[in-house]
Amino acid sequence: MTEFALFLDFDGTLVEIAPKPDQVRVDPALVPALARLRERLGGALAIVTGRPITVIDGFLSPQRFDVAGLHGVERRFGGTVSGGRSEDHPALRARIPGLHAVVEPLEAVLIEDKGASVAVHWRLATPSDAARAQTIVEELATDLGPGYRLQLGKAVGEIVPASATKGTAIRAFSAREPYAGRRAIFLGDDLTDERAFATVNEDGGVSVRIGSADTIATRRLADPAAVRSLLLGWADGATIDPDALPAA
Ligand SMILES: [Mg+2]
Repeated sequence: MTEFALFLDFDGTLVEIAPKPDQVRVDPALVPALARLRERLGGALAIVTGRPITVIDGFLSPQRFDVAGLHGVERRFGGTVSGGRSEDHPALRARIPGLHAVVEPLEAVLIEDKGASVAVHWRLATPSDAARAQTIVEELATDLGPGYRLQLGKAVGEIVPASATKGTAIRAFSAREPYAGRRAIFLGDDLTDERAFATVNEDGGVSVRIGSADTIATRRLADPAAVRSLLLGWADGATIDPDALPAA
């Protein structure tokens, strides 16, 4: 019988996207279901997200899951955190005050400073302010050079250390017990997840895109409600057969 390791994006996958990143609502049934499912998978369940680990802990309290945070910059595996220290990123830190100054005049453009990465959100901005915000973050990425890369998502642009990706984070988990030797399943909803889908496909895993966008994932689910319904079923003993999910 195939054994699986489950890797889950957070925003837009486990929870619906909110107008502001701190406004997401977590379905009360989700956290206990994830804990049961982790048990069923022998511990091989991790959250793989652009959010900091501490923020995920807040949303999924009182559970503390394995997490790859900040797109893989920081990882918590079996309770031990590595990577993600803001003091390792002086070049990025030096640009934060200037970023605040240029974003200030734009209405409804938010800076989310995560320490080792920084995101600029324009979901609620006017089209012209949104375009300006994207230009600002693109220019910052160019200025910072090859040590950083720009990751564009849904109404957000984020500067992250170039070495970290969700795909490399999934591979790092997969090299260790209890993940090692299991077939990876990765669920994600965004452009930022496509590269990780490629990694998972290459390694013989199952990639699942949430929503209707074009994708290189092999399977698809409609929305976070469909994801929660699937995971609740798996948590309660339904056969785990990701190959039976609708083709993407
Ligand atoms: Mg997402």
